[in-house]
Order: sequence, then structure tokens, then C-alpha cells
Amino acid sequence: MSNTSTIELSKREESNLVSLRRDFHSYPELGWTEYVTTWKIASALNNLSFSLYIGHESLEHSARMGLPTPEQIVFEEERARAYGVPDDMMKKMADGCTGLAAVLDTGKDGPHIALRFDIDALPIQEDRSTDHFPVHQGFASTRDDVMHACGHDGHTAVGVFLAKYLDDIKDQLNGKITILFQPAEEGVRGAKAMVEKGLLDEVDYFLTGHLGIIEGRKTGEVTTCTGGFLSTSKFDIEFSGKSAHAGKEPEAGNNALLAAASAALHLHGISRHSDGATRINVGTLNAGRGRNAIPDRANMEVETRGESSNLNDYMARELERIVHGAAHMYNVNVTSKLMGHASSADSDSTLSEVVQTVLRHSNCVHTVHDFGELGASEDATLMMDKVRKGGGKAAYLLFGAELTEGHHHPSFDYDESALRIAFETYLNTILKLQGEYRC
Ligand SMILES: [Zn+2]
Repeated sequence: MSNTSTIELSKREESNLVSLRRDFHSYPELGWTEYVTTWKIASALNNLSFSLYIGHESLEHSARMGLPTPEQIVFEEERARAYGVPDDMMKKMADGCTGLAAVLDTGKDGPHIALRFDIDALPIQEDRSTDHFPVHQGFASTRDDVMHACGHDGHTAVGVFLAKYLDDIKDQLNGKITILFQPAEEGVRGAKAMVEKGLLDEVDYFLTGHLGIIEGRKTGEVTTCTGGFLSTSKFDIEFSGKSAHAGKEPEAGNNALLAAASAALHLHGISRHSDGATRINVGTLNAGRGRNAIPDRANMEVETRGESSNLNDYMARELERIVHGAAHMYNVNVTSKLMGHASSADSDSTLSEVVQTVLRHSNCVHTVHDFGELGASEDATLMMDKVRKGGGKAAYLLFGAELTEGHHHPSFDYDESALRIAFETYLNTILKLQGEYRC
């Protein structure tokens, strides 16, 4: 640790942080199946002063959205057991309850500060060519068709490293620190279950963020007040009708395919809204069983988005009306299931100013942007919303990093020196908020 006004990592500490990131990168897992990842995090934090709330203890079971099928969960649990995750851990995460919360209560007066790090990967086959840095350096995904292509491996590593570091200096700390390792961010499925567990009740400050994201922003550039989160809802819609012989008695059938097709066209015709930007997308439509049968089943995956939560609510209401109207027209039944949700949110400028003060003392940060647009959706907004409604403050930070390719690309990779910047920003902001930080 150098003896400057802010804590900065030594070269050796930075290389430990990078190694941690590479370890998480090499074994990616999809949302609600992060068994090995959760176990690795818990093992790293096991002997610290943090209380760990693992799996079921960190989630409201019924508030999870967009779960894999029961068969997929059984398959993934067997994979995790074969990897070596012990039985007691598997029990705590049974039935797709991954993720954990680590809470350090110093017993001293001080603020309650919460941070969130997302831990899941994507269903993408990682580039296997030797000029892809993770392949070249021997830490590419060891799993087919699963890849950390969004930087959550780095987020996880920063969270683990932060908990360990805070434990080392716990005598200097006050108040309470909650670190959430959230499952299933992709598809905005996991945050709600952690919020509903009450982990963010009575939080004074909430910090989270993302590596990369804004194109062109380089390592050493940090955005402290992120806005432009699109509120979004993800729906699985199922039409069920009645099959009949298409030649002999077509009138006896109730055509689910036509209901779904009609709904798809009308969904894309929802009126724009004068209050701001909205989006709709029917992403998949599968229907029917064969050429000579009236289709009795149709499934669609649809998403709505809005510049504000109100605008997204408007789109979701219109969606319900249209799918029910289409079902009525073809005399079939329809159900819609919410598979993911994120609200819009704002960062508090006063908390962002605290982060900016910290960044001004950093030797690694050369440009501080007070505002940036995410222009996408992120379910940390549900956490930000919860904290702000309880009277606390929230900020979403963006840590610029040179990227090889954009997020969710098979050749995605980022400049690892952004990791220390994220770590130091969180750590020094916590210390500043606790009044321990001295300029
Ligand atoms: Zn991401």
C-alpha cells in the first residue's frame, strides 16, 4: 500500500486482483446456475469477519425471474457437484438459488454502505484463436458455449478483493458494509430477489457500476453519475388453442399460431408516446406441430423498454391488452409470464460528487465525467430505486476500459488495468463516506 492520500494497490496486489479475474473468467456460468462461482466467492471470504448469506439466505425464492427449466437446473447441479462443490454448499444453493451477500458489521456508529457485483456469464462460445488475449494467456473459458463476455468476471474479482481488503483494515472502519454478489443480471432477472429479501433495507449509500460500456471511453476515464437506464420487462407469452385436422374439419380448431402472429404485428404497432422513447421487440415466435394440423400452441419471447419506468409500464400494459385481444379474436387462451425486469433510475449527484472528490486524488484516473448514458438496461436500478426510496443515495459508476470488441461479442476482452481503478474507487469512496479518508 503506498502512503499517499488515497489507498492505491501495489503492483503485487494488482497482479493478485488480475489473477482472480482470470480465474473467474476461465469458469463462466449462466444466470441461476453460478454454483461454482458462488462457492469460489464464499471460500475466499470464509475466514473473514464478514457474515455470509449464501444462496437461499440471500434471495427471496419466489421473486426470482427467468429461471432455467427444472431439467436444466438438475443438469447444472450435477456439473457443479462433479466440479467439487461440497454438499453443504449445494444444499444452500439448491434449485437455482445462487449468489451471496457478505455483511461486515463493525459494531461502531457509521453509515450502512452497500455495493453490488454481478457474477453471471453469457451463452456465447468464446473465440478460440490464439490472438484472443485470454487464449494467449491461458485463461479462456474452459466451458463450451458459456463465456464472460460482459466483464462480470472483473466485477466479481473486484468485489472479492474489496471484501478481503476491507477485512484487513477493519479496525479503521465503522458502520456496516454489505457486499452483494448478484446472480442472473443478464436478462435482468436476479436483482429483484435480493431486493425483496430485504438486503437493502436501511442502506445509506449504494454503489455499483460496470467496466467498459460507453464506446471510446478509455482506461483512466470514470463516469460518476450514470443515467439513461432503459426500464424494461421481458415476457414469455404462450397461446394455447385446439388442434384439429386441417383438411377434414379445420373449423373445429382454435388457431394459436394466427393469434400469436396477429399479436406480433400489432405489438410492433403500439403507438409511440409523447413523454419519451419506447421500444418493443418480439424476438422469437415458435408455433405449430405439423403441416396438416391446426396449430394449438404458440410461444413468443417479447421485451418492452421505456426511457422511464412509466413509459415501460405503458408498453407493458399495451402488450397485455394486445395479446389478450388477439387471443380473443382466435378464441384461444393466453398467459404471459414476467421473465425479467429493470426500472429506470438516476444516480444521486451528491454521492457522485463524493466519488469525484476521491477520483481527483487518484494517480490512475485522468478524466472524470460527471455524466454518462448507459443506453441499455441493468437490474441494479431496482436496487438503486429501493435505496433511494428508503432515503439513501445511490450511484452507478462506469469504468472506462479499452475493449477488443464490444460487450457480448465472442472476442470481447478489456484492459485489465481498469480493475484496479474500479477497486480503488470503491475502496476510497467507502473510506471517504465513513469519514476515515484524509486528503
Ligand atoms: Zn454486464
